[in-house]
Amino acid sequence: MTDSTRRKFVTYLGAGAVAVPVSALIGTLPSHAAELVDPASDQAVALQYTAETEMEGKNCSTCTLYQGGEASGMCPLFAGKEVAANAWCSAYTPKA
Ligand code: SF4
Repeated sequence: MTDSTRRKFVTYLGAGAVAVPVSALIGTLPSHAAELVDPASDQAVALQYTAETEMEGKNCSTCTLYQGGEASGMCPLFAGKEVAANAWCSAYTPKA
């Protein structure tokens, strides 16, 4: 093996060592956000969920159960779905 060939081989090894962890990380990222809660679903109806409330300051984004961002987020009462930040349900509990 010449020095040039050895250098190329070592370079490829280094690139492979970086590529594998990056590809492993990408595989763990969510491919898309969860669907929003369907207000007509049984659980939503039971909790009187409304996708957009008119109550000033009383919505999911100010609820202690809300785990999300500006537009939508997760709520443990609706596993696997997202609630709208401006939604509301009867289990609303204001953040302290
Ligand atoms: S409990 Fe109700 S108001 Fe609170 S985040 Fe969940 S859906 Fe929104």
